[in-house]
Amino acid sequence: MKFRRWALAATALLCMAVSSLSWAGDIKNVRLWLAPDHTRLVFDLSGPISHKLFTLSNPSRIVLDVPASKMKASLSQLDLKGTPVKSIRSGRRNSRDLRIVLDLNTKVKPRSFELAPNKKYGHRLVVDLVKTSKPKTTTVPSSISKKQKDPRRNIIVAIDAGHGGEDPGAIGPGRLREKVVVMSIANELSRLLKKEPGFTPELIRKGDYYIPLRKRTQAARKKEADLFVSIHADAFKDPRAKGASVWALSQRGASSEMGRWLAGRENNTDLVGGVGTLSLGGKDEVLAGVLLDMSMTASLTDSREIGGYVLKNLGRVAHLHKRAVQHAGFVVLKSPDVPSILVETGFISNPREAKLLSTRSYQNKIAKAVFDGVKQHFTRKPPAMTYLAWKAKGGAASSRYKVVRGDTLSVIANRNGVTLNKLRKFNKLKSDTIRIGQVLQIPTS
Ligand SMILES: [Zn+2]
Repeated sequence: MKFRRWALAATALLCMAVSSLSWAGDIKNVRLWLAPDHTRLVFDLSGPISHKLFTLSNPSRIVLDVPASKMKASLSQLDLKGTPVKSIRSGRRNSRDLRIVLDLNTKVKPRSFELAPNKKYGHRLVVDLVKTSKPKTTTVPSSISKKQKDPRRNIIVAIDAGHGGEDPGAIGPGRLREKVVVMSIANELSRLLKKEPGFTPELIRKGDYYIPLRKRTQAARKKEADLFVSIHADAFKDPRAKGASVWALSQRGASSEMGRWLAGRENNTDLVGGVGTLSLGGKDEVLAGVLLDMSMTASLTDSREIGGYVLKNLGRVAHLHKRAVQHAGFVVLKSPDVPSILVETGFISNPREAKLLSTRSYQNKIAKAVFDGVKQHFTRKPPAMTYLAWKAKGGAASSRYKVVRGDTLSVIANRNGVTLNKLRKFNKLKSDTIRIGQVLQIPTS
């Protein structure tokens, strides 16, 4: 008996120890971000938690169970318009545990993860509701259709407005947020490119939501961008720091202390924006490294050149932080085959620059400077088979080509995006035999 009583007491003690050790956090606040492919709910917690998520049907809903937690946030303040969530409510599962229920109006694939504290936020629980309907895909890979069929394609510029959604970026005086400033500049740059013949802008981020850094470059590659421009307006620990700068990727290291600091900041945005399921395994990192080494050199040269043009134009409207293109290891620039630059439009931590950056007229001036730089580069060095390349040749209906060793008629046709038959007819050829030195007319339209 004596022993049993002791055992009971010990068990009780143990239970107390376990419950005080076990994770417990109340929900202090809730945010919601609407992206084209998913809706993200972020719960701010007072401490670490464990959670369970499951779905129920008829009616379709998602249930979140959080042990040892209380709901201290107001769920009714959430704007659910345009989201798959019809309503959200919370209740007690028992005296200790919290249950949150999301009533859905469409089917979604949920994913959830917990995030450890960082500089901007404490413990968080993130729930993503991913759309299940897949976007329509074309059967022909667009690279083939675009690059072989259309000899006058547009140059595609991927515009990446930094940060977004859960990640506000740098915050300046008057709570001016980087994500808002850069979205406005990105939209103006997109507008300018859209009305310029020969260019097609592609906004990577179209609203106030977060996209992981690797997904941004992936999106640019998927769109077959000729250029990736990431737009930022950052902060430095010293509020006196000022001026715009243009950055290209460096594999070896940053060219300045500022570069290390900024790259560190920007590379950490995934922690703030909330990337819980996208951690790249070691394998991917190795593979990424190999790919980078293989094809980086060419795009780095182009990046530096484009950066130079953009910098020169920025110098006309803004104070420059440095007169040369800077280098640092920004993750968002690591796109092996797409020339990529990162434009720091100014320092939001500098009160004078923050004031400028908050005005539409200054944002438009910056966008115009980036646009002019991009246009100048591609006018001088148009990629093959583009409208600008065609225009550079005087917009002629044909161009001349001298046959070299190893050429065949079909190779030449393929390379120039015309059919073999068209090339034959255009040159009034009676057979497909060609000889070295023979001059062919290549139709360009
Ligand atoms: Zn930034």
